[in-house]
Amino acid sequence: LAVPSTAPASVLAALPYQDSGLPVAERVADLMSRMSLDEKLGQMTQGERGSVGFSDVTAYRLGSVLSGGGSAPSPNTATSWADMYDKYQNAALATPLKIPLIYGVDAVHGHNNVAGATIFPHNIGLGATYDPAMVERIGRAVAEEMSGTGIDWNFAPCLCVARDDRWGRTYESFGETPDLPAAMTSIITGMQGTALSGPASVLATAKHYVGDGGTGGGVDQGDTRLDEADLRTLHLPPFQAAVQRGVGSVMVSFSSWNGAKLHGHRYLITTVLKGELRFDGFVVSDWNGIDQIDGVKGASALDVRTAVNAGIDMVMAPTEWRRFIDLLRAEVQEGRVSMARVDDAVRRVLTKKFELGLFERPLADRWYTARVGSPEHRALAREAVAKSQVVLKNDGGLLPLATSGGKIFVAGKSADDIGNQSGGWTISWQGSSGDITPGTTILEGIKETVGSGATVTYSRDGTGIDPSYRVAVAVVGETPYAEVRGDRPAGLGLDAADLKTLATLRASGVPVVVVLVSGRPLDIAAELPGWNALVAAWLPGSEGRGVADVLFGAVRPTGRLPMTWMSSASQQPINAGDGKTPLFAQGFGLTYGPPRGDTAPAPARDSAPGPA
Ligand code: BGC
Repeated sequence: LAVPSTAPASVLAALPYQDSGLPVAERVADLMSRMSLDEKLGQMTQGERGSVGFSDVTAYRLGSVLSGGGSAPSPNTATSWADMYDKYQNAALATPLKIPLIYGVDAVHGHNNVAGATIFPHNIGLGATYDPAMVERIGRAVAEEMSGTGIDWNFAPCLCVARDDRWGRTYESFGETPDLPAAMTSIITGMQGTALSGPASVLATAKHYVGDGGTGGGVDQGDTRLDEADLRTLHLPPFQAAVQRGVGSVMVSFSSWNGAKLHGHRYLITTVLKGELRFDGFVVSDWNGIDQIDGVKGASALDVRTAVNAGIDMVMAPTEWRRFIDLLRAEVQEGRVSMARVDDAVRRVLTKKFELGLFERPLADRWYTARVGSPEHRALAREAVAKSQVVLKNDGGLLPLATSGGKIFVAGKSADDIGNQSGGWTISWQGSSGDITPGTTILEGIKETVGSGATVTYSRDGTGIDPSYRVAVAVVGETPYAEVRGDRPAGLGLDAADLKTLATLRASGVPVVVVLVSGRPLDIAAELPGWNALVAAWLPGSEGRGVADVLFGAVRPTGRLPMTWMSSASQQPINAGDGKTPLFAQGFGLTYGPPRGDTAPAPARDSAPGPA
């Protein structure tokens, strides 16, 4: 029976589930004994902010809200996020049982929906650092920035093992072999803290379960065709590592395994993940993901019962959440979804809410608001950027560049563009070129580094270069994209504008350093002989100074390839150990000491060994 909303506060305060001194399991059991079916269904439902009014949360007892794809309050500031969060939370607390909601976002490389937040390198760059301890510190920083806006739950990390660079989500992968994503689950420990109840802890999500990076042709949301032994060897280990670290939630993949949609896969979700791996958190579906089960547009009774019976505990039903609740209620009443399954799902969700301390501290902790985009976090991001740079070519020891003397020419569409260097999932879902959030562009980083020591000239397309320049730095590559829109089945080459810029620079005879801003290895073998040096910068995010730190030798390069670099796009998929001849093997990366004339000691080795 639900507690009547007229119950006096003193009575409510006395209820066992509100007693923080009791064990979580007892609190959950007590609370569940008081819940109606509709209150339980609400805990299994997540709607999208744009389709959920504050009063809907109270009326429908909604258990969760998300901001998908950068859906931000207006104005987009940390404070307005906190205000919005508190309004949703107060609406949840206005229900008879006062069950707090849990609010989820994709903070996949920093708290990237929030203008002014620190934008860290995308996972592919973090993979290149081979530094799980630093990645754990990044997880902590992200959790602090999220806490400053109230947000409790992060749909990250993506633990995909990206096996085909044509896939538009390759940059969300820490690496093409399972060891790297498994090691980088340290980010989960950073996000969740030593205890979920600790200060500034957020719930992490291991996604997308399982095999999302193994689809045929690198097609987003496609089909991963592997026998079970290979699926387990290649794609399961990162999830195993995440469960061992106590990850609070797991998101199901849009993809299929041998033709069967993961969203309806009882064996993989219930038998393997919850049974064999002993995952004790809750499983959330992806955006409208259950809708794909029967292949008919719009959630159906079949979609709902298949997904919930497969083991999905909370359904992300962005706009169709009302329909989901009605369908699930009917399925339960007809006996096609058991009450035991509903109770198991609700128990899992509520357990994490209690563990997070949401019942005790439901509102945004404004102490952390000042941490959003703080100098400490930007310094950490700069460190990560420097460690993620992979030097692939360095003819004649052109790098590091000297900070003084002569003129430096900088060119390329991504030299002075925060949006390009941040990539997708930045401010908006797809990301966009331009001055979208505060930060330091690579050009600004170069200018800050050389100071008054050298003249820096910038020309987007390379025109204006002449032999009086000592070196040209070309910053070229991909422009932002996310998910399926980033799939490139037709090839992975540079675009025509970049090729033209590079041709202009080359014609001048000035030595050219190419800095590639991209979400994946690109098909560059034909152009490479014309470049004197090449640095893979990946998608570094808001702190472009870290790129300059490596170019000018303030930081000795240590980044190594997290993925095999193709000799030609026709080699895709190409991965470590598959017998194909790459341009650069996974693990490859050059290094060098400080600039000539600098008195700092030289490094012990001049080439970092890799596994391949
Ligand atoms: C993506 C997920 C993401 C979700 C919520 C989906 O389209 O596949 O990675 O967490 O949207 O924004």
